[in-house]
Amino acid sequence: MKMTAFLTSILSILCGIGSALAAPTVSVRYTPTDNEALKPYYEFIKEHDSLAPAAATANLFKWPHNLLLETKECNEVNAMYFPGQNKIVMCYEIFKDIAEKVEAQLGHHDQKYRNEIKHNSLVFLFRHELSHAIFDIFKIPLIGNEEIAADASAFYFTLSNGDLETERKILLGAKFYFMRKNENFGDDTRYQFGTFSDIHPLYEQRYFNMLCYAYARYPEQASFLVQQELLPQGRADYCPREWQQLSYGVERLILPYFKKPKASKQ
Ligand SMILES: [Zn+2]
Repeated sequence: MKMTAFLTSILSILCGIGSALAAPTVSVRYTPTDNEALKPYYEFIKEHDSLAPAAATANLFKWPHNLLLETKECNEVNAMYFPGQNKIVMCYEIFKDIAEKVEAQLGHHDQKYRNEIKHNSLVFLFRHELSHAIFDIFKIPLIGNEEIAADASAFYFTLSNGDLETERKILLGAKFYFMRKNENFGDDTRYQFGTFSDIHPLYEQRYFNMLCYAYARYPEQASFLVQQELLPQGRADYCPREWQQLSYGVERLILPYFKKPKASKQ
């Protein structure tokens, strides 16, 4: 009896040490909401497991602390990384905004396509927020605007997926995210002074940065972008260098924090 008690206490001590030494984990939480107006959006995100792709990217890293990816009601139309809290939150309110605009603007596509756009716009958005977490937690040196860097990092991980069809769908989701507020994309009559002083570049610029990386990453499959003048030749000429700079930056600054660091190509 005594021996059993002794073994039990040893076991509990070992378990305690084990959990204290356990590697930090990345967890996903779809927090339910009581708000009837937001419930369908909570259900959609849960059903599509929309945080899974960003969580898979996050799981490549050797985090110093646990990291939480969460969707919840927050009374604002936003998605954000909380420095110091190891937490990224996507509000149901911003997904409601995206989903409503998908239904209003993409009615000429079937429901399956519209749902894919909704899901994949979240995949991009969460990878963008995850990039803010990577920059902050691993103290990645940045020269220039963090928002541009967060987009670039999100596109790097998206375009390094290895599955062209999945990558294409996420780019379409990101495209909608950029275009959703202005159906007349490029119409500059709706811009206000604050638009130009915002910490984010214009949605149109973020969209063309995305096309540039996609074109450089897949010159053959994405050649239609230039042929159909969706990406001007004058910009396309710079894209291979832009992708090379991005890849070099990620390989030098970010990949060393992978659980299994990848050898730099440079
Ligand atoms: Zn951002």
